[in-house]
Amino acid sequence: MTDWTRASAAQMAAAMKAGEVTSVELTQAHLDRIAAVDADVHAFLHVDAEGALATAREVDEARAAGEELPALAGVPIAVKDILVTQGMPTTAGSRILEGWEPPYDATVTRKIREARMPILGKTNMDEFAMGSSTEHSGYGPTRNPWDLDRIPGGSGGGSAASLAAWEAPLAIGSDTGGSIRQPASVTGTVGVKPTYGGVSRYGAIALASSLDQLGPCARTVEDAAYLHEVMGGHDPMDATSLDEPVPSCVDAARQGREEDLAGVRIGVIKELSGEGYQAGVEQRFEESLELLKARGAEVVEVSCPSFEYALAAYYLILPSEASSNLAKFDSVRFGLRVEKATVEKTMGATRAEGFGDEVKRRIILGTYALSAGYYDAYYGSAQKVRTLIQRDFAAAFEQADVLVSPTTPTTPFKLGERLDDPLAMYLNDVATIPANLAGIPGMSLPSGTAPEDGLPTGFQILAPAHEDARMYRIGAALEKALAEQWGGHLTAQAPELEVAK
Ligand code: GLN
Repeated sequence: MTDWTRASAAQMAAAMKAGEVTSVELTQAHLDRIAAVDADVHAFLHVDAEGALATAREVDEARAAGEELPALAGVPIAVKDILVTQGMPTTAGSRILEGWEPPYDATVTRKIREARMPILGKTNMDEFAMGSSTEHSGYGPTRNPWDLDRIPGGSGGGSAASLAAWEAPLAIGSDTGGSIRQPASVTGTVGVKPTYGGVSRYGAIALASSLDQLGPCARTVEDAAYLHEVMGGHDPMDATSLDEPVPSCVDAARQGREEDLAGVRIGVIKELSGEGYQAGVEQRFEESLELLKARGAEVVEVSCPSFEYALAAYYLILPSEASSNLAKFDSVRFGLRVEKATVEKTMGATRAEGFGDEVKRRIILGTYALSAGYYDAYYGSAQKVRTLIQRDFAAAFEQADVLVSPTTPTTPFKLGERLDDPLAMYLNDVATIPANLAGIPGMSLPSGTAPEDGLPTGFQILAPAHEDARMYRIGAALEKALAEQWGGHLTAQAPELEVAK
C-alpha cells in the first residue's frame, strides 16, 4: 500500500480526483504519523483529529456527489499557532495565552476552511515568534527530524518540522525576520515569505506589524505555490493588505520546470557570504548557481553595502513594535490572570509569570528604544538604515531579476548551543532580515546536505515587491535541476525517524 504521507500535496490532490484515495484516508494517515513520531519531534501544540476528519468526510461526500471542489480540497494542513482558530486553542507559543480559545477565525484560517483543507492542528513556535530555534516556546522545543538533538529553526520550527517528519504535507508560517525561510532551510523544506501585504494578517497575532507576513511552508516549490494562491489576496480587514490580484505562483512554477532560464539575470549578494558562513553551505550554494547557469541564467555579483547594519536596525525596530503590540496582554482581555491586590500589581504579576525571558528582553529593549530621550538615537536611526537597505535593493534589482544567497549561514545547530547567547541566536537571520525591512518577497528551498555534517542547506531567492511569481519560476527550475543531480527530491532524503512501537 502507498504511504500517502510521502506524497506531495499536488499528488494527493490528483489522487483524490482520480479516486485512488479519499481525504479521510489521507488525513488518517497523517494523524497516525503524528501519533507515531510527535512525542519525539514535538511539532504540534494541539492536534484536532476530530475536526480534521470531519472536514475530510465532508470533502469526500461532496466529491462523491460530483461537486466542484477547490484545488487543495481534502489535503490536510498544519497551522502555526500564531493564527487564531475558532474552536481550537491559540497560544502563539506563550504561557500567557494558555487555554485561550479565540472567538473568531483569522482571514487565512477562513481561507483554509473555504479551500476545504482539513486542519490537523496547531504547530509549535518560539513565544510570540521571537527566536530562531523554537527553544523560546513556552511549551518546550521542537526537534529537527534530521537529527533530534538539533534545532528545527524558528520561530516556525513546528511547521517546518511537521513537513520534514511527514506529519503534514503543507503548513502555514509567519515571517518577520526569517521565521518561515530559516526553519525551511534547516529542515530541508520550502518556505516563502510573500510581498508585504500580499497575505492578510487579520487574526495573526502581531509581532512587529511593519515586518510581519504570513506565508506557505511545503516540501516542494509547486506545493508552496498552490498554498500561496489559497492564502493570498486582498482583505478589507487588514489595512496593509494589497489591493491587487494574487500572483500566479502555480503557473510560474510550471514555467520554471518546463522552460529554460535564458535571459534571466541572477544577482549574488556579495555581503551575504564569507565570514561566518559554513564551508558546506557555501559549496552547495555555488553548485546551485552552476545549475542555474546550466539552465541558461546569467549570474552577476551585486553589492548591498547597508546590509551590514540590517541586523542592528531590525533588533531596534522589532522590539519597539513588539513592545507596543504585546501591551494588550494585560491580564484583563486574554488568557492568564495572576490575581493581586491592585490592578497594576495584577498586570505586573501576570506579565512576569506569563512571558518568557526572550519576550521580556525585547519588551525592555523596545520600550527603551522608544523612550523620549533615545527615540531619535535608536528608533530614528534604525528607520534611516531601513531606507538605505531599501535603496540597496532597488539598485541591485536594476542589475538582476532576482537576488540570491544562502538562506542561513550554517546548518542546524544543537539544541541549547546558542540559548544563552542572544547575539549568536540573532546572527542566524543575517541573510533573511533585509527582505522584511524592505517588504520584498523571499523563498528558501533545499540545496542539498552539507558534506561535513550531512545536514540540510538552504538557497534563498529574493524578488522585487509584487513579483512573487518570479521566485516560483526560478525556485522550480533549481529544484528540478537539484533533483536530477541528487537522484531524487531533497526532502525525500531525510533520514527515517524511528517510530515508537
Ligand atoms: N528569528 C527572528 C527573530 O527572532 C525572526 C522572527 C520571525 O520571523 N518571527 O526575531
